[in-house]
Amino acid sequence: MRGFVLNIKKAKNEDIIVTVLDNNTLSNYWRFFGARHSILQIGNLIDFEVSESKNNFMPNMRSLSHLSFSWIFSNNHLLIWQNFIKLFEAHLKDTIEIDNFYFNLLLEIAKKWDKQNPKRLAVEAYISLLSHEGRLYDNGFCYVCEEVLDKEVGLMRAFLPTHPACIYAHSLDKEEIFKLFNTQSTIHLNDATIEQLYLILLKGL
Ligand SMILES: [Zn+2]
Repeated sequence: MRGFVLNIKKAKNEDIIVTVLDNNTLSNYWRFFGARHSILQIGNLIDFEVSESKNNFMPNMRSLSHLSFSWIFSNNHLLIWQNFIKLFEAHLKDTIEIDNFYFNLLLEIAKKWDKQNPKRLAVEAYISLLSHEGRLYDNGFCYVCEEVLDKEVGLMRAFLPTHPACIYAHSLDKEEIFKLFNTQSTIHLNDATIEQLYLILLKGL
């Protein structure tokens, strides 16, 4: 099995429960003495074998190995990665069939996480996720009051556009935001705007 560690919970003694997103599932595994395993950290891509537990309680994880990325030793990159990937558990946990879009999206951006500002990659990945799920809302009307948007917009969670005053939000340029929605690229946005978008993203997918 190969997957990203999305969460880790302490179980009893030094055992832990590891939540992993693989190609098609989000699953929990029991790992004996997992607290001693430095490989088991949120955000890591791991390879492992699964053995069924005797009491059918939860499958066990064994024969672990870490498929590392070169940026893993950069605290800044690692922190942004962990904060981003943590959001996927809450987003996917009630989904029964998960298509491989999510695993592939994470794998693709993990490979280039240190090639540019990782917050840009997170924002672009989020736009492609919203687009994949049919949730990009770009029809020109405020999500709150339903009146026509002006030149400046505010963005709610899920990047839903509003009048800035309708949600007391930071103002962003509507043209720039809709260009982001249409192109799924942040190349036309400055770093200050990326920071704003990243903070909204952290509210949840
Ligand atoms: Zn409004």
